[in-house]
Amino acid sequence: MRLPSASKTPAKTVWDRASSRPRHTVILCFAVVFVVTLILAVHQYFLVRARELDNRSHQLEIQARVLDVAVRNNRQHLQFLRESAERLLADRTAQLDRTPDASLQAVLRAQDERVWNLQVRDIDAPIRGIGTQQLAVTPGLHRDEPTFVEDLRLAQLMSRLFAVQFQMGTGLERAVYVSPTGIVVAHPTIDDDEVVRLLQMYGSSRLLQLANQNPLDYDVTFDPVRGRKNPAGPRLLFGTAVMSNDVVRGLIFFVVPQRIVQDYLWNNTTADETHALIDPSGMPIATSGSTFSVNDENWLKTLPAQWNTLSASTLFRTPSGTLSAGQDFLLFRKLDTADLVLTDYVSAATVFFSVVRLSSALFAGVWILMALLLWATLFVVDQLLSTQMALNGRLRELSLADPLTGLANRRRLNEEFDALSRRNDERRIALLMIDIDHFKVINDNWGHAGGDEALKHLANVVRIAVRPGDLMARLGGEEFCGLLPDTTADDAARIAERVREAVARNACVLQETQLTRTAPGREIWFTISIGVAESVSDNCFDLEGLIAVADQRLYAAKASGRNRVVASESMQS
Ligand code: GH3
Ligand code: MG
Ligand code: MG
Repeated sequence: MRLPSASKTPAKTVWDRASSRPRHTVILCFAVVFVVTLILAVHQYFLVRARELDNRSHQLEIQARVLDVAVRNNRQHLQFLRESAERLLADRTAQLDRTPDASLQAVLRAQDERVWNLQVRDIDAPIRGIGTQQLAVTPGLHRDEPTFVEDLRLAQLMSRLFAVQFQMGTGLERAVYVSPTGIVVAHPTIDDDEVVRLLQMYGSSRLLQLANQNPLDYDVTFDPVRGRKNPAGPRLLFGTAVMSNDVVRGLIFFVVPQRIVQDYLWNNTTADETHALIDPSGMPIATSGSTFSVNDENWLKTLPAQWNTLSASTLFRTPSGTLSAGQDFLLFRKLDTADLVLTDYVSAATVFFSVVRLSSALFAGVWILMALLLWATLFVVDQLLSTQMALNGRLRELSLADPLTGLANRRRLNEEFDALSRRNDERRIALLMIDIDHFKVINDNWGHAGGDEALKHLANVVRIAVRPGDLMARLGGEEFCGLLPDTTADDAARIAERVREAVARNACVLQETQLTRTAPGREIWFTISIGVAESVSDNCFDLEGLIAVADQRLYAAKASGRNRVVASESMQS
């Protein structure tokens, strides 16, 4: 069968493909938006994380400054006490002018006692000391009377100044002055044994050694490790030496309870982070825990395994910084006033959750909104599509059917013929051309409406008479066409004959209401003539050709008397 070659369909554009699959397109578009927001979310995560670490670093700086203020405060107070003491010692004329007062005389007389008391005002810090016998067995102490009297005056000054210091409420646990002539001023007071013990420690104290080593450039020391093993809990110790002519004339200590620093960190640190104040060996001075457990472990060793290689010296090398291991962070800042570093350990989970808490609401909102929009859009697309499909189906039906009889129309006939031809080039296709005999007469007698009823009647009869796979079409007027697939000329002739007989044997019966006044009766008896053509035997493989052949034979049937089938040249002649 020679058919015009099917015109090649042009390459589909992306847009064509997208519009042919609206659902997929919508989902794809949303997926793209989702991926873009996901990328934005990841980007946002890193931005917020950097900001979060900045905030924490800022908090750490504030804490370090507060600690610095506290340390500086104690230093300044100690410096003041030291300077006051040194000024007193320098003022020799004042010293020599004065003879010892009654209370000093009393002390000088009491040198046989193990521990004596110098009478002071109730509000001042008590002045205690040891007698000559005890002094003789205490290493590092010695006494001559002029120095002793000078030191007693110094002790009186310290006693007053300590009292003032405590009245100002400095948070100190104790202030202590110790002289090498065996005098102790302590506020609050200490018992006799403690006085003896303190003086015994004087000679070997680190503070004394430092002062002796560097008498010219000696300042306040801050010794937080001292007192770590104290049964009452760790203490922070500030100390300084009173110097006169490069000779150490006494030591002044401030004892600060570790609890003050511990409480400060505990109250000013969020629960999800761990702050620790550590010394150059990594020992913790205070942490942000509710209590401080006294152990001599390097605090850095308590961090997770990935920090194993971190040494305290790394943290003391720069004033501040941020280290990371895995997804964990360690922020640190050195104190300006003491050789200590304040650290903030932030675990990966802490960073993650605090960042997510800050930005998740926004993205969760966007994604929920997108899901809702996707659902709504798909719903609308589905609705539009199903309505459109239904309309298309209906339109197609209408475009392929004859409105009067419901049979196929000429367009449908063309499509079916093309489809048949495409399936097999050499297929036998038979075609019947049917025409009502003397139809004009029917129109004349029963009117145009009666004629239409006859056309509908004919459509019903032929529809039943042909086989299920055959297609009956109305070409126009009272001309009908039957397309019979896989049918030989003989079979087609037989089917045509059957159709002709069926029409001839069944009258079209009109309703009373359909009758015109001139109508001869309700029954319209009519016949048809049929011309038959078949592709192989007529060597004709296109529809136009087959119609032409069948039409020719239809005319032959009319010419030879009507109500008959002409299926071949021989019958035609
Ligand atoms: P013949 O036996 O030679 O075919 O005679 P005929 O009267 O049938 O002649 P022809 O086939 O030429 O008649 C066509 C007539 O069909 C003319 C027209 O009035 C009528 N006709 C065409 N279309 C319609 C229609 O849709 N409805 C009705 N009622 N009549 C139609
Ligand atoms: Mg006709
Ligand atoms: Mg006719």
